[in-house]
Amino acid sequence: MTARPIRTADQAASCYFRTTVDHPFRKALIQIAEPCNEKCAHCFVSATPRGDYMPLEQIRKRLIPQLADARVTKVTLTGGEPFMHRDLLDIARAFRKAGMDVGVCTNATLVSDEQISELSELGAHMNVSLDGFSADSHGRFRGRPEGFDETVETVKRFARAGIPFLNPLARTQ
Ligand code: SF4
Repeated sequence: MTARPIRTADQAASCYFRTTVDHPFRKALIQIAEPCNEKCAHCFVSATPRGDYMPLEQIRKRLIPQLADARVTKVTLTGGEPFMHRDLLDIARAFRKAGMDVGVCTNATLVSDEQISELSELGAHMNVSLDGFSADSHGRFRGRPEGFDETVETVKRFARAGIPFLNPLARTQ
């Protein structure tokens, strides 16, 4: 995984998802799920509990070949909340099998121990969103202060499993 500073003396990255790849390769954000269990005031995709999921077979047969042709070597799976997609692990496996690095952009409130173990074995990284350093500040944006402790606890579980995670204060997912 390549993690670059979001700002250097010469330039500032426009991408909140700070991992990147070197030319001539590309990185892609893939919205695999529209629904989300949270209701963030700042949600950049206006996610609700309703919506569609990208079918696994479509990802395997159409999307991955198209991305490979476009020299994509790294993907970030996003939503909505990607952990609401019942095929998340199979999707991550399919991208890894195609030789692509995989990250998951998540609010980290719906993650099981089994998923953590599988994603660790796959070498995936996590991009976790927090909106402050306390339940009060986090909850002000999310409308659900108790979600702060859930997210922090999941970040600790990621860490114990050796899964890298990024952007602990990004308000972008
Ligand atoms: S967790 Fe992310 S996708 Fe879900 S409502 Fe909040 S900003 Fe939107």
